[in-house]
Amino acid sequence: MDVEGILKRNLAEVEARIAEACRRSGRAREEVTLVAVTKYVNAETARKLVELGVANLGESRPQELWRKAAAVPEARWHLVGHLQRNKIERTLPIARLIHSVDSFRLLEALEAEADKRGRKVDVLLEFSLSGEVSKHGFAVKDLPLVITELEQLRVVRVVGLMTMAALDTPDQSRQTFAALRELRDRLTPPTPKEPVRHTLSHLSMGMTGDFEVAIEEGATLVRIGSALFRGLEAAS
Ligand SMILES: *Cc1c(COP(=O)(O)O)cnc(C)c1O
Repeated sequence: MDVEGILKRNLAEVEARIAEACRRSGRAREEVTLVAVTKYVNAETARKLVELGVANLGESRPQELWRKAAAVPEARWHLVGHLQRNKIERTLPIARLIHSVDSFRLLEALEAEADKRGRKVDVLLEFSLSGEVSKHGFAVKDLPLVITELEQLRVVRVVGLMTMAALDTPDQSRQTFAALRELRDRLTPPTPKEPVRHTLSHLSMGMTGDFEVAIEEGATLVRIGSALFRGLEAAS
């Protein structure tokens, strides 16, 4: 099979699994967006995915995001990995959504840079909920400060939360994902007194090993890499 054939087969398989997880949990397929994480492949392969109908692509490293987004501008690009503050300026015009805002310093730097450029920017706050998996991310104990911070943002719009589960069993991932959903609900007042600036409608959670469980727990964005590119080594 050639590269395109393999991609087509993998995509069909991933799509079927997403659809099945949606069906099991009584959700509409449109509630879940597939973000194909292209860090394992070159820009040419990433473009083939777009041609097969995948609109949203993601990269975990800012430099790779810049490079691939320049080569495949027709995709909607997401940054899913850590963003260093000195890379904000080049990343802002490219990323439709930054999934991985993991500190107050980064949040404040994004606000300052976006304000300077007269840009709106949509972000997710990354929470570290499963112990040592990720050194990046907010902790549950940061919640009061996060709430205060949200009130101060003017141009950065927080549209949801993101997390990575430990690469353990699906059951442990499920606990992490449920915890993220509960955090999101705690950050969303049931009857807001004023018009809300931040509508935390998104939950970015679930990768190749655990995206079905994530969908069952409410994921709206699943970040999938390996499952889409399985078997490509042999073709190239
Ligand atoms: C690589 C990566 C993914 C995709 O992981 P797979 O297990 O290959 O599907 C998702 N999210 C982030 C932040 C990543 O770095």
